[in-house]
Amino acid sequence: MILESQLDELKEEIIACGKCPRLVEWREEVARVKRKAYKDEDYWGKPVPGFGDPQARVLVVGLAPGAHGSNRTGRNFTGDASGGFLYPALYRAGFANQPTAESRSDGLILKDLYITSSGRCAPPANKPSPEELDNCQPYLEREIQILKPKVIVCLGKIAFDRMVKIFSVRNLGWKFSHGALFNLPISSFIPYPSSLLCSYHPSQQNTLTGKLTVKMFDDIWEKAKELINDD
Ligand code: SF4
Repeated sequence: MILESQLDELKEEIIACGKCPRLVEWREEVARVKRKAYKDEDYWGKPVPGFGDPQARVLVVGLAPGAHGSNRTGRNFTGDASGGFLYPALYRAGFANQPTAESRSDGLILKDLYITSSGRCAPPANKPSPEELDNCQPYLEREIQILKPKVIVCLGKIAFDRMVKIFSVRNLGWKFSHGALFNLPISSFIPYPSSLLCSYHPSQQNTLTGKLTVKMFDDIWEKAKELINDD
């Protein structure tokens, strides 16, 4: 319950955030203009907070909300093609109660897993600037401090680079690649051994080109399960 209320408090703070003027303008503009296919929907148009199981041992870190995906629905990877690849995989691995994610009220429940992102506001061209990611980093740090996950799965290099920064491990020369696994140092964030597991991001750019296959992605979640059950 304590974790839940800490996460709820953080969510409220995130939703009210306006630290990045360029992103505030963009997320609200997209929500106003809308895509034709969603013209009758009320877009969220605000920062998208993390969500999932407050007792999660696995923390998933993505990039940032998609303009017409989570900037529309208000929940990570919900209502877009990346989520259409992610949630079936989480369902197969037992981390989600259903393989679909369409809206905040679709009944999706995550088990032992929490999903968040490096940046919380939809950026133009899906590219937050380094300064914008720096502005958003304290939220990610607090999520890590509250959840103290045993495994962090970073989806893509931008999320990986954030982890390298947060855990101050640049000097270790870690390189991002799909399936790469690192032992995170014990720190004020997580006071016991934990792991960083890398995956390609499930964007269409990767899934439609075969750079990230269903099998490759399933292997990531199997590995995450193995790591949380390893003692
Ligand atoms: S990206 Fe993060 S820091 Fe910037 S306005 Fe959105 S929530 Fe705030």
